[in-house]
Amino acid sequence: MPNKHTIGHFIDGELISGGERAQDVYNPATGAVERRVALADKTTVEAAIASAHRAFPAWRNTPPLKRARVMSKLKQLLEQHAEHICQLITNEHGKVLSDAMGELQRGIENVEYASYAPELLKGEHSRNVGPAIDSWSEFQPLGVAAGITPFNFPAMVPLWMWPLAVACGNTFVLKPSERDPSSTLFIAQLAFEAGLPPGVLNVVNGDKEAVDTLLSDPRVQAVSFVGSTPVAEYVYATGSAHGKRVQALGGAKNHAVVMPDADIGNAVNALMGAAFGSCGERCMAVPLMVAVGDATAEAVIAGLKAQIATMKVGPGTAAGVDMGPLVTRQHFDKVSGYVAQGVSEGALLLVDGRGVAVEPGCEDGYYLGPCLFDHVKPGMKIYQEEIFGPVLGVVRVQTLQQAMDLIDAHEYGNGTCIFTRDGEAARYFSDHIQVGMVGINVPLPVPVAYHSFGGWKRSLFGDLGAYGPDGVRFYTRRKTITQRWPASGVQEKAVFNFPSNQ
Ligand code: NAD
Repeated sequence: MPNKHTIGHFIDGELISGGERAQDVYNPATGAVERRVALADKTTVEAAIASAHRAFPAWRNTPPLKRARVMSKLKQLLEQHAEHICQLITNEHGKVLSDAMGELQRGIENVEYASYAPELLKGEHSRNVGPAIDSWSEFQPLGVAAGITPFNFPAMVPLWMWPLAVACGNTFVLKPSERDPSSTLFIAQLAFEAGLPPGVLNVVNGDKEAVDTLLSDPRVQAVSFVGSTPVAEYVYATGSAHGKRVQALGGAKNHAVVMPDADIGNAVNALMGAAFGSCGERCMAVPLMVAVGDATAEAVIAGLKAQIATMKVGPGTAAGVDMGPLVTRQHFDKVSGYVAQGVSEGALLLVDGRGVAVEPGCEDGYYLGPCLFDHVKPGMKIYQEEIFGPVLGVVRVQTLQQAMDLIDAHEYGNGTCIFTRDGEAARYFSDHIQVGMVGINVPLPVPVAYHSFGGWKRSLFGDLGAYGPDGVRFYTRRKTITQRWPASGVQEKAVFNFPSNQ
């Protein structure tokens, strides 16, 4: 494909063309190759790390208010270029434009949070912890931090990471998804335009070779990862073995519980968006609905079927489209394979989205219509594994406790939600469920930028979640200083017991 433009890297404030390896980037709406993306080799990644390492001392000493002002300016630029960024997202990811706008807006909120850096970094101070002794804790930047991000939020997830990291005084090397790299690279260039000095943010496109270089280079102090659980576990183990601080957010299989007393109409509307929005390619999507009672299951299924029948599937750029294509042919084949698997496992396929009709010109796109299964059971692969597509399975139970036992037994613990009018049931559910993010009549309980995002169990490796207060702690190291200025002329004896306020 020599005539296609190849996207390179952004190192030391400059666009750099790639090395020898490259791969195709598709428009999933048409199946056409739009461009190519370079896959950085070790030397290119090391050049990015070296640039970040060089930039660190000056950036660390730049007053937090000045660093924060770059974020304020970046927020303006992101708003100004929002339409273009969303076009880039939709052309490579496939999600509908309004959803791309939603993702970008959530990303901008993280930039806004990072612009509070001076307030976030104020530290803690105690006077007179002993006679004439004061003590304080500072939150110092770590040095070079790295981010490795997934395809499904090419703007938002990188914006969870580097704005806060650099606002805290670190420098950064970002390795975005090789499947939809354009919006990520464009945003990095905007950050430079907003005033980030060269080297403070570098972007290397690539694959495992780039990731492995970031995980083993001693100059990289911390790694934030978001992606699938097998890779998250690998990144956590490898980065930790190299002495780095690592947070690795993984996959999910989120259950929505619908209680018999729920407002069924609202629950159905919420489930439609949560299951089929972004073609199910969200780590907070709801691929499983647990109905408490058969009457609940019947009512919700009737509502879902009616709404699915009106859904429009097509290119994400077309007006009136509810759901775009899956991201790649390979992923389309994988998700379609799960639908076949569900049938052979004995689940009841009520709505089959395979072979969905699309408009002329889109026949080679990766379209799968919404799929709905009833009688999904815990032993089935379509229950256990993350499908990451527009496939919603209904599981039937008789009590809330049975629903909660199912959720707690699952390997993932990213998000969950309950639909009910019973405050006591909702409170019991949110108090006891073994999941990190819980919605009560809220289908996608993604925390806002000033809280933090993190699942439990095999949905997060590491102690701290992404962005918000956890992000500030992740990208800084506490240093506690204890200081004493005895009155002049006072001579004290040596003390051999451990000093205390006894
Ligand atoms: P992925 O794991 O395939 O890729 C994520 C990143 O890791 C990419 O940058 C990729 O280049 C890199 N990578 C892939 N294979 C690698 C390997 N063998 N060694 C080293 N690096 C490797 O994930 P994806 O398909 O891009 O994204 C979808 C997944 O991400 C889903 O599982 C989804 O649940 C998860 N996700 C989780 C969250 C969360 O916050 N928990 C958010 C978004 C997506």
